[in-house]
Amino acid sequence: MTARRLDGKATAQAIREELRGEVDRLIARGRRPGLGVVLVGEHPASAVYVKSKTGACEGLGVHHETRTLPASASTEEVVDVVEKLNHRREIHGILVQLPLPPQVDATRVLDVVDPVKDVDGFHPDNVGRLVQKRPRFVPCTPAGIMELLARHDIGVAGKRAVVIGRSDIVGKPMALLLMHANATVTVCHSRTADLAAVAREADLLVAAIGRPGLVRAEFVKPGAVVVDVGMNTVENPAEARDLLEPSRLPGFEKRGRALVGDVHAPSVASVAGALTPVPGGVGPLTIALLVKNTVRAASMAE
Ligand code: NAD
Repeated sequence: MTARRLDGKATAQAIREELRGEVDRLIARGRRPGLGVVLVGEHPASAVYVKSKTGACEGLGVHHETRTLPASASTEEVVDVVEKLNHRREIHGILVQLPLPPQVDATRVLDVVDPVKDVDGFHPDNVGRLVQKRPRFVPCTPAGIMELLARHDIGVAGKRAVVIGRSDIVGKPMALLLMHANATVTVCHSRTADLAAVAREADLLVAAIGRPGLVRAEFVKPGAVVVDVGMNTVENPAEARDLLEPSRLPGFEKRGRALVGDVHAPSVASVAGALTPVPGGVGPLTIALLVKNTVRAASMAE
């Protein structure tokens, strides 16, 4: 069996196109949606993510601006930038790009974001609302995964779902969304005993770990739907030969690096019923959902 490829890129484009009408309506009423991004330091991956996010805004006519602070910024300096964005009427959504440098208290910064502008859904007010199944903003990655499943007619009600990873950004909200959609959910993490055996019970397996290719064929029940959230860079040629599908090797040779997920795609693709690719799976959906949340924030502010 070769797993069905769940194309996140195409789904993300469909989501963005659906937003166009609402963006145009808001612009016509003098309320162009606006996203304020706070970027601290020179984390190379963060700069790439911010560029993708602001690029997606641009494609739809959503205003965006990025406040860049030096890597040496203090917590209070970052808080001050967030507070200024909180008060700007033309900014409807605020995104603090993570990770923040170690001297910055990330919890304090995220707590300062106005909950009605918190398009990442990380503020405790929005987390609490999500737990109570009355969400305002849902974190973009798990929200994007739910859209991907729905748009591929993959039902989750009554299914056994296993989420590997318990982060506030992906694992926890993913588990909540699946539970609210009536799946029976198990959350695994770094201390789970016999991870492969637990994962193998899943009809739907979500891997959000940050360990290249950790999920191998023996983790997957034949026919299961596998969602790969991981975004890891490989530079070692031996590792690349193990982790990449043969068709991706020429690209690796050329660039000397490649993006890989938490799922060992070459082996899992022959066991799973469906699989999200990396790249082109969950990543583009995260960005589309960020734009969607920003447009919603602007609509809510009307
Ligand atoms: P994190 O480091 O905050 O959390 C990782 C989780 O994995 C932890 O809960 C930990 O308990 C668990 N874990 C670690 N090692 C494990 C092991 N050996 N066995 C089982 N569980 C283990 O990471 P995160 O922010 O949740 O991100 C996870 C991955 O998803 C990363 O690769 C990240 O780059 C990627 N990510 C991708 C997107 C996207 O848009 N595609 C968005 C966010 C994160």
